[in-house]
Amino acid sequence: MIPPRQSRTIRVRQLEIGGRAPIAVQSMAATRTQDVEATVRQVELLERAGADLVRIAVDSKADVEALKTVRSRTRALLSVDLQENYRLAELVAPFVDKLRYNPGHLHHHEKTKPVEDKVAYLVGVAREHGLAMRIGVNAGSIAPAWAERYPDPLEALVRSAADHCAMVDALGFTDYCVSIKDSDPRHVVETNVRFAELRPDVPLHLGVTEAGLPPDGVIKTRIAFEQLLARGIGDTLRVSLTVPFDDKGMEIEVGRAILADVEAGRFRSVPPNFFHGLNIIACPSCSRVENEKFIELAQEVKELTRYASEHDLTIAVMGCRVNGPGETDDADLGLWCGPTHVNLKRGSAELGAYPYDEILGQLRRELDALISARSAGSARL
Ligand code: SF4
Repeated sequence: MIPPRQSRTIRVRQLEIGGRAPIAVQSMAATRTQDVEATVRQVELLERAGADLVRIAVDSKADVEALKTVRSRTRALLSVDLQENYRLAELVAPFVDKLRYNPGHLHHHEKTKPVEDKVAYLVGVAREHGLAMRIGVNAGSIAPAWAERYPDPLEALVRSAADHCAMVDALGFTDYCVSIKDSDPRHVVETNVRFAELRPDVPLHLGVTEAGLPPDGVIKTRIAFEQLLARGIGDTLRVSLTVPFDDKGMEIEVGRAILADVEAGRFRSVPPNFFHGLNIIACPSCSRVENEKFIELAQEVKELTRYASEHDLTIAVMGCRVNGPGETDDADLGLWCGPTHVNLKRGSAELGAYPYDEILGQLRRELDALISARSAGSARL
């Protein structure tokens, strides 16, 4: 049984989230928003799989125009993902049901404007159009002011979310939920538990970001969701898997299967040594992916690096330059896609951008060098 949750109930049109409402399962379109046909098909596919809500990324006025057409062709509940260009909110609001903003991206535009004013703008747009909101913080993009104030990155995430809740509360707006995501399921559990202690009234959207390719992506998600749901934490959830567009229904199926298992008291044991050895994190892809080869690239990285499976290293593969640079910061080796080249990083050092047909060779060389350097280091100890 999932214990009773203490959160209040919010509304996304007719969908209730939080309190006694069934836990809503959502996903995100991985198609280019401006490819209206593909995006409508993607929304339909997710709806058929049982999605309660579908998120779509919007980064430009052209995306807004496309979304307007998508809206006219579906009755699905739509959430819009605003990133750096949060001021698109007023343009997109008439065509969606929920706004998601990331506190870690608000500082990019209008740098001198106080964050409280930006939040007030977003709340004003949501209120005017009857939209719900999500305050979505992410480990790869902690707002600089919070990262400075809280040296513990997990605390920075929790406090960033809680402080934004206080800003929204001060405006008298209550139809909002929070998400705190990280690619490490242990961090997802820790931060969501801490947040739920601070703000048990605020509905939580659960997610392990960049969980990556199945089956590991499913296992990571299960680890986090089982622990949180069994504590009565979590009111809506999204499973993020690196799979092709046509397989995106899997995110909904996995989410519903985890819910059914926790409800029935069935918990999967974590495979031995799951948190040791090579860890590949990969984003689930979205409209921002800069080259459609991304999913294939993530699969090829997994294949190529199998030989290093015993080494405690993290490789991150991201689809775009919006989140790629930040989300790869904590990885030993990071890749993120550009239109014609893939950028490669070792730790925080940028190594260069390589054509798609050269990146795997370059990655192999860097991985070999890293393994040799570590072996030499441990031999000297
Ligand atoms: S890293 Fe970029 S492409 Fe991947 S899901 Fe995030 S925003 Fe989308």
